[in-house]
Amino acid sequence: MTQLTANWNYPNSIRAGAGRIDELPALCAQLAIKAPLLVTDPGLATLPMVEDAVNACRGAGLDCGLFFGIQGNPTGENVTAGVSAYRDGRHDGIIAFGGGSALDAGKAVALMVGQERPLWDFEDVGDNWTRVNEAGMAPIIAVPTTAGTGSEVGRASVITDAPNHVKRIIFHPKMLPSVVILDPELTCGLPPHITAATGMDALSHNLEALCAPSYHPMAEGIAVEGIRLVKEYLPRAVANGDDLEARTQMLVASSMGATAFQKGLGGMHALAHPLGALFNAHHGLLNAILMPYVLKANREAIEARIVRLSRYLGLKQASFDGFLEWVLALRGQLEIPHTLTDIGIGDSGAERVGRMAVADPSAGGNPIPFDAERYSAIFCDAVNGRV
Ligand SMILES: [Zn+2]
Repeated sequence: MTQLTANWNYPNSIRAGAGRIDELPALCAQLAIKAPLLVTDPGLATLPMVEDAVNACRGAGLDCGLFFGIQGNPTGENVTAGVSAYRDGRHDGIIAFGGGSALDAGKAVALMVGQERPLWDFEDVGDNWTRVNEAGMAPIIAVPTTAGTGSEVGRASVITDAPNHVKRIIFHPKMLPSVVILDPELTCGLPPHITAATGMDALSHNLEALCAPSYHPMAEGIAVEGIRLVKEYLPRAVANGDDLEARTQMLVASSMGATAFQKGLGGMHALAHPLGALFNAHHGLLNAILMPYVLKANREAIEARIVRLSRYLGLKQASFDGFLEWVLALRGQLEIPHTLTDIGIGDSGAERVGRMAVADPSAGGNPIPFDAERYSAIFCDAVNGRV
């Protein structure tokens, strides 16, 4: 195995490799952060890896604080609480540490510590982002502990507007973390079902980006190789959580997916976002379940590029059907349920889900512009298992 350690400066400054969490205090110093606030979720807050990171920073003379008041799908209220913790502790930088929820919450806190306006004023609509007082924003170091969302290389956070049961995208170019640590050892403790669900989210990012109709060959190149990494390494990471090579490659595939999806997402995410908000279900798991149904619905628009992709992946049958079969087999191997019914979601709210999906920002990247009725029908297919 080649040594999987490297420094990259694309799309941001990335430190990849086992054990590189040890560089956290030095990276704070490099960004002139003297009092970082480490933002994580309650599950991670009690684990040694968070305690070690906080202690390493304190040992290096940094006044490091800890905030873990966030939910699985972080809410506007969680962000407000984080801003209070930041101000009360007189912090000067954010370490966003954890899965997608912790990273998104940490990035949103870093934005909001410098603003007078409310969070929703910065929803990714039109040129809302130009309302931001950039000078007040905190520098961000991102440390993902799951391989899926790729939020560490993104300029946006998904935050739930709890009173309205809707997920909103908060965007500003400077929400892109200054430095990222991709340390596979931090992901080794993830149980197989979380490794599988988050890894399938990375696959869905690469796949939807590849299929989005806009002109962006650079993103397509990244997406194709990101899909290959998932194919080679996700089954290994699920089968043996301590496989550091697989864990490294999945972290990279996750960053690649989020880099690629500036080209656009599509119907999987357009449906997964409302379903996550309505049923509080796991985002990656939703995408994993929805994947074959959405692929099938898009078939006529994506067939040629799926055939090309299948050749690159070395599938036995380089065709749309061959690719769909591979997706179904991968899901089976990873023990991903086949239907939404299997995770307790029935089709009674189909019309509402359809309306929410068509209004979701991700719908704009779908190869075919589905209407609300079509999204309702795909949702029903996923409830009932009709591929
Ligand atoms: Zn996703």
